[in-house]
Amino acid sequence: MAKEDFYKLLGVNKNASDAEIKKSYRRLAMKFHPDRNSDNPQEAEVKFKQIKEAYEVLSDPKKRSAYDQFGHAGVDASMGGRGGFGGESFSDVFGDVFGDIFGGGRQRSSVQRGSDLRYNLELTLEEAVAGTEAKIRVPVLVACGECQGSGAKKGSSPVICSTCHGHGQVRMQQGFFSVQQTCPTCRGSGKQIKDPCAKCHGQGRIEETKTLSVKVPAGVDTGDRIRLAGEGEAGEQGGPAGDLYVQIQVKDHAIFTRDGANLYCEVPISFPTACLGGELQVPTLEGKVMLKIPAETQTGKLFRLRGKGVKPVRGGAVGDLLCRVHIETPVHLTKEQKALIEKLGESLSGGGKYHSPQEHSWTDGVKTFFDKITG
Ligand SMILES: [Zn+2]
Ligand SMILES: [Zn+2]
Repeated sequence: MAKEDFYKLLGVNKNASDAEIKKSYRRLAMKFHPDRNSDNPQEAEVKFKQIKEAYEVLSDPKKRSAYDQFGHAGVDASMGGRGGFGGESFSDVFGDVFGDIFGGGRQRSSVQRGSDLRYNLELTLEEAVAGTEAKIRVPVLVACGECQGSGAKKGSSPVICSTCHGHGQVRMQQGFFSVQQTCPTCRGSGKQIKDPCAKCHGQGRIEETKTLSVKVPAGVDTGDRIRLAGEGEAGEQGGPAGDLYVQIQVKDHAIFTRDGANLYCEVPISFPTACLGGELQVPTLEGKVMLKIPAETQTGKLFRLRGKGVKPVRGGAVGDLLCRVHIETPVHLTKEQKALIEKLGESLSGGGKYHSPQEHSWTDGVKTFFDKITG
């Protein structure tokens, strides 16, 4: 959408004096004030922001001359390219202007939003992979039911702060400078409570332990977070509540480790199975499955079980389960077993007694390994 001409917005001509611009701005700002436009507050807000932006430029000699020379392109860059309203909420935009225009009578419209909260939720790997519904208990400041968050005794209401006359801000003289500060009496709310609510002692909020049910979608992982809108701390004096962020922490699993969508596990296999091949029971999150072990399997070999991993919470293919086998060395050997292994060793070294690694012919891997050592 093309931006409207700033002079047109303010209804002044290009040669208008600073005083004319200011006068016109005040008239228009009052006209589009939301209290006077309750039938169409959105449109009034948009219009107000446009007027404010135009005024910010035309009231600043440097910006005005840049605007006169280059148009909107001349001032957009200096205002962050977003017309100077990036991140500012409507109430912020109002706060600094209207105290000025309406004199002492007007209360500041800004209310404090409550803080966001974080809750650490520990899940087992099974819960994280399959999804779960967790009940959590969160100590949180909620709006006082007795006074509906206002902090004033039932039947009374807060009065305009006598220090700042409802601005929420006070001007302090520091040498040559006049500095605007948050009012120390009302801490910026512009209101004072003469007759505090007995239940919350005028705070408007009380601490309560809320029990919440959190739907954890399947596939979450450590570091993921779930936002529960409006379940954070209640705002001061009836302000909107913050959000609650449930931070997921997946506990270590006895068998599996997870890397993204894939799961890893280590499975021991016997020496005869490794040599001759066979079948092996391996665990998955959905129970045991049989895995075929080919003959002459080396320790450390990774077997991939497709689709036995995790379905990622943000979509995408289901991961795999990767089983790494390691060959168990037989222990507590009987005399007979020792003799058999000795015989096997002799046979594998091509007859004769097995003395040094260089002589034997077990596997290519072992041979090339020792070749490297001896050069
Ligand atoms: Zn109360
Ligand atoms: Zn005050």
